[in-house]
This record gives sequence, structure tokens and C-alpha cells, in this order.
Amino acid sequence: MTRRQPPLVSRMRGHTATVFGEMSALALATGSVNLGQGFPDTDGPDIVKEAAIRAIREGRGNQYPAAHGVPELRAAIAAHQKRFYDLDIAPVTDVVVTTGASEAIAATLLALVEDGDEVVMFSPWFDLYAAAISLTGANRVEVPLTPGSFRPDAGALRAAITPRTRLLLLNTPHNPTGSVFTRGELLAIAEVVLEHDLWVLSDEAYEHLVFDSKQHTPFSTLPGMAERTITIGSAGKSLSMTGWKVGWASGPTDLIAAVRVPRQHLSFVSGGPFQWAVSEGLALPDDYWAEFSSGMQLRRDLFCNGLRDLGIPVIVPEGTYFATSDVRSLGYDDGWQFCRDLPIRAGVVAIPHQVFHDNDDAGKPYVRWAFCKRPEVLNEALERLARAFG
Ligand SMILES: *Cc1c(COP(=O)(O)O)cnc(C)c1O
Repeated sequence: MTRRQPPLVSRMRGHTATVFGEMSALALATGSVNLGQGFPDTDGPDIVKEAAIRAIREGRGNQYPAAHGVPELRAAIAAHQKRFYDLDIAPVTDVVVTTGASEAIAATLLALVEDGDEVVMFSPWFDLYAAAISLTGANRVEVPLTPGSFRPDAGALRAAITPRTRLLLLNTPHNPTGSVFTRGELLAIAEVVLEHDLWVLSDEAYEHLVFDSKQHTPFSTLPGMAERTITIGSAGKSLSMTGWKVGWASGPTDLIAAVRVPRQHLSFVSGGPFQWAVSEGLALPDDYWAEFSSGMQLRRDLFCNGLRDLGIPVIVPEGTYFATSDVRSLGYDDGWQFCRDLPIRAGVVAIPHQVFHDNDDAGKPYVRWAFCKRPEVLNEALERLARAFG
């Protein structure tokens, strides 16, 4: 008898386990403070929750909502892009609502890249990108951010482009490093995009989590980029409702028309009543958005200052939920080993950067901490780290 092959197509075999599953199980087994997975442990505004409850009660979205998103939400997304970035987006043709930013990313790739094409992206990258690219049959090419400072190097990007390169997958504010790419850095990247006539998928899920005096620059605001860029947003991240899975893609009419094709055959529609609630959430007044980023900045400062006081090196992020440490001064040369030991040694969970690279060596000394947690949780983690490393 011949042995039965494992029931999974070859292109997905590299993606069977996620580090988050392994680390969350380890957190549970050891009673650790879980600074692994990036989700906030406090929900978004009550007013947005009430809007969802009202929509359900009033029968809005309980049946299949409109195919590309309820018109009210598409209008709210367009108004958001105008209000914050002065971008003109036509809600009827230039927006598609998706099952989280995740589906927007998958649908964009399925719409724009062919078997054997290359998708280029800076590493470390958000792990979902690798799996979504594999779904399309394309190959991924990684260009490491400068180690330690985590800045994008347009020269290195240019050197990685081949005749097969079809699309640049960009992410700013950047997960896992917390870098917020400057306008100058993005302009240099835009030159490469023009030279090689690339499409751009710009994942801006953390657009509202930018700290200090830094500014988020949407890639599509740069000269010549609007006509070739799909911009992706996430209500999970912007409204702290990661379980709702409402996201969107916006961009030029022809690209959005393409993205709508695979997307309508993936989930068709999703999140009916939540779409109505998110349309109210995106219109929240300036106070909400200011407090959202300043509240996260306080958590960043609490955690990063705490690490520094313990002598644990930290690369202070400019945005997002995440900070990075180089663990070499703690006696480790391998972030994976550090993250496997940490729950046992300290009762804390972190994620090794290696899982966000194809080249293992590139991320080897770095680990990611999620600080999007309540201050008491961060203080508990710091106390545990103090006992182990202090
Ligand atoms: C969380 C996250 C996403 C996915 O967002 P969802 O709306 O939950 O699907 C996409 N990109 C980045 C960089 C993220 O961190």
C-alpha cells in the first residue's frame, strides 16, 4: 500500500503552523504574560459598540450587505482619506470593503500577480504576506531593512528588482519594527517603482498609531503613485476591534475593479452590522484619534523605559503596537532560543524576528514585544523580566 500524501497543496506546505499558535500555547502552559500576539486588551469606543448593537436591532446588515461594502461605509472610508490625507476617492468605484485588512491583502495579490511573478517586500515582513503570496503562485523576494535602525534602503530595493518583479508590498507604519517611513524614504522608493513600472500594495493598517511628532505619509499621496497604488486600512487596528474583521482597499478605479473580482469569490460579503458601526467609528472627532495614538504612546514609553531600566536594549518604535530588542547582550545569539526560554525563565512571551524573514540570519538577534496592553499587564511583565534579568 502506498502511503497517503499529506492532504495539503504544495504551495501552502511552508505555512502550516504560525508562531502565534506555538507561543500562545506556551504562554498558556506556563502562565506567562503574553506579549506575543498584537491585539489590544482593551476594546475600542463604547459608542462604536453601541452602533453595532443598534444596527443589529434595526435590521441593518443582518442579511447579505451590498457586494463591495455598504454605501455608508464606503462613503466614510472616502471621507476619512479626504479628511486625514486630502486624497480624493470615489466611494462608488474606488473602495472595496473586505474581511479585515487580511482579505484585502490576499485579494489584491490574487488580482494583480501571476504564477511565477515576483513580489518584493522589505523584511522583516508581517507573516500573512508570505502565505498570501504563496496562494497566488508568485515568488517573494525580501529586502532587509537596515539591521538595528530598521530603515528602508531604496538602493537595496532597486538591486532586488528583476524583469519578473510585478508588485511592491509596502507596510508603513511597519510591523514588526515600528518604523514609520519618512516622506524622503518613500519618495526614494517611489522612484524605483516608476523606473520598473510596479504595482504597489501599501498596507497602512497602523496609519493612526504614530508617535511623537512623526507623520504617517500614505504612499498614494506621492507624485505619480495614486494611479498604481492599492491602499489598505483596518478597522480592527484603527478602532481597536480586531475581532470584527472589517478592512478595506482603496485606489484607482481600474485596480479596485480588479481587486473586487477575487474578493467577491472569497467571502462575497462579511461583517454586515459591523460595517455600519465602522462607518460611524471612522467619523469620530479629532479627540478620539489624538487620544488613541497618545494612549498607545504612553504604553510604549512605560514598556520601553521599563526595559531600559532593566538594562534590556530596546529599539524604540515610532508607531504600531510593537517594540524590538536585540537579545545578544542578554547572552543569546538566537532570538528563537530566547523566545523558547523566556516563558520558563521569566513567564513572559515574545516573538522572534526570524519568523518574519526568509533569511534566518537577517532577524536572528531580534525579538518583538507587543505593548498594546493595559499598564498593569505591562508592569507585571516588567516585574517578571526584572526577576529573571535584573
Ligand atoms: C493586523 C494586521 C493586518 C490585518 O488586519 P485585519 O484587519 O485584522 O485583517 C494587516 N497588516 C498588518 C501590518 C497588521 O499588523
